[in-house]
Amino acid sequence: MTSKKKSKFNNIDSSLNDAEPIEISIPVFNELIQDENNSSRERIEERIDIQSEEDRSVLMNDEDSPDNSEKEMSITTASNEVSSIPSATTTNEVSSDENPNTKSKSNEKTNTNPDSFSYKTFVMIKHCQNQLELDEFFENKYAFTRVTHSHNAPCTLEHCKNHIPHKMRYIKKVCNCKKDSCKFQIKILKCEFQDEFFIYKKSTHKGKLSQNKRTRGISKAIKQFIINIIKHDSEISPKTILRRILSDSNLINKPQLKQVQNVVFRYRNKSTFNSIQAVQDLIKKNQFYDNIDENRPFFFNVDKDKNGEILIGNGSDERHLHICLTSLELLKNLDSNLSGSYHIDGTYKLIRNRFPLLVFGRTDMDGKFHLIALCITSHEKECDFLRFYNGLKNLAEDLGIEFDPGYIVQDACDASYNAAKQLFPDVEILMCYFHVVLNCKKQKHLIPQDLQGYVLKKCLRRLHMTTSKDHLMKYYNKFIEFCSENCPDFARYLFKSWLSKNSKYTKWKVYNSPPGYATTNSPIESFNASIKRDFTYRKKLSVFGFILKSFEIIKYYSVTDKHFENTPIPSIRAKNLAKSVSKWENFSQISKYIYEYKGYYSLNSKNFDCDCKYYLKWGYCSHQLALRNLFNEKEFVNKSKKGRPKNSEKWCVRE
Ligand SMILES: [Zn+2]
Ligand SMILES: [Zn+2]
Ligand SMILES: [Zn+2]
Ligand SMILES: [Zn+2]
Repeated sequence: MTSKKKSKFNNIDSSLNDAEPIEISIPVFNELIQDENNSSRERIEERIDIQSEEDRSVLMNDEDSPDNSEKEMSITTASNEVSSIPSATTTNEVSSDENPNTKSKSNEKTNTNPDSFSYKTFVMIKHCQNQLELDEFFENKYAFTRVTHSHNAPCTLEHCKNHIPHKMRYIKKVCNCKKDSCKFQIKILKCEFQDEFFIYKKSTHKGKLSQNKRTRGISKAIKQFIINIIKHDSEISPKTILRRILSDSNLINKPQLKQVQNVVFRYRNKSTFNSIQAVQDLIKKNQFYDNIDENRPFFFNVDKDKNGEILIGNGSDERHLHICLTSLELLKNLDSNLSGSYHIDGTYKLIRNRFPLLVFGRTDMDGKFHLIALCITSHEKECDFLRFYNGLKNLAEDLGIEFDPGYIVQDACDASYNAAKQLFPDVEILMCYFHVVLNCKKQKHLIPQDLQGYVLKKCLRRLHMTTSKDHLMKYYNKFIEFCSENCPDFARYLFKSWLSKNSKYTKWKVYNSPPGYATTNSPIESFNASIKRDFTYRKKLSVFGFILKSFEIIKYYSVTDKHFENTPIPSIRAKNLAKSVSKWENFSQISKYIYEYKGYYSLNSKNFDCDCKYYLKWGYCSHQLALRNLFNEKEFVNKSKKGRPKNSEKWCVRE
């Protein structure tokens, strides 16, 4: 099936080689790009442009940029919280006590001179790694504030520079005292991708806050009470614990549910163990069996000794660890008869032992990502990828699933490249286009500053959006001509790393994969970010703890993600565009099945293929939709169901 797809595609390729490519001047090219950029995938790519280096430097001058405020931090000093808010002296700083390394602690210690505090600028006071930490910080220190403003903006945080473009949330809080004279303000920047929170403050509240509602931190007695309950019943829910606390008359200062949840979460996380035996037991209990529920997670690729006992490595260089998980439902996405690229990517900071997680999945023809399998691995060598792919291959064979991947999208990683090529000789390894751009940005010093935007945004994208080798050569030659005068070293770098025959990673142009196949790894990267955001809350877990999380993840996606889109879904914009060009005068018939759109693109009326770059990238284009509309007009229409006309009542009224 996959080989069929490839050969069909090669035909497009070769037919184009024969045809004389149409000369399109550069401005026309840009206009065309703007024509059909309504798809969500396209919008993500457009955003990478916004994040280019010179735009970033403009954004950095914005007062709201945390980097900027951090710089100001060194010249201005924050007032001492304790001296300005009398009632706050009794609160114990739970969050910073537990995170002695966070910036806030050191800042508060060094900046104790209230006189030099600047009232005009925001000063960073805290950096949180997750929502719980943030909530706790506010509960303890700034319970007297309320949110007045919250909106999304492109993330400008310095440490996000090397990630795909994403949003951050901007939250503004003010003092509850409602006095005009009080200029106290809090600003929270929350990166949606990394789930990091940066908290800034401006000015201080003067005077007592006794009338303002504020909740204190949880008392030691209650904390101990909760821990005693969990020790007896490890599965008990925070709600039940709270009910017990509320009914216990000995305990004063009843806590909020959120506070109980925090204590439970912390305790459970600390006590999840690091033992190999526990993991072995878990694997033993969750193997594949006949008639297993299709949503139930199970381990595969498991090593056993002569007696059938499960063997797992401890993660050392001598004994690599591999724990592979999937479900029958997720394996439906493995079927190579479906259309769409496979994706593989490693993600980090999930497991305390610094083991990466391999995520393997598939994008459908609507660009949506579908999980297939997870693998906790201790290493990312060729043998580890071989082991993983082999496990999948054997499992597919056992279950009668056809698994012969045509296209795998990955970043520049030799280990997974070599492993895939070894096991699947016909596979094409596609290079993630975003990573080509990111890597080129790292070489931007080879380009004169005023040309960086042009080369890194426009030129690379133009090379990416090519429909054939000839088409690529045409733009490449123009590009080289431009570079030889302005940036010959960059041209050499681009060729050597991303275009030369000696490079493994040359397949990042849209003509390298069938129409509509994903050419970037951003779907899998956002999926990985969602694991951290929605499942682990950016807390690192033990291997055992993370396996339990993986069960949750696999169950969740098995139950909720049942639809794999096998045909591209045109955007509304493309449909509207198609409507406006659905006229026979735009098409000229060349042969029985071949039509030409305005003399530019040639379409096939049998399967409605088009040779334009939009069709190759998204799997649909306005030309194709227009021709299809016209062909539908040639057929008899279907009359709508008989029945009372919709506006019959109105007619009655009038008569
Ligand atoms: Zn960010
Ligand atoms: Zn105030
Ligand atoms: Zn990527
Ligand atoms: Zn087209």
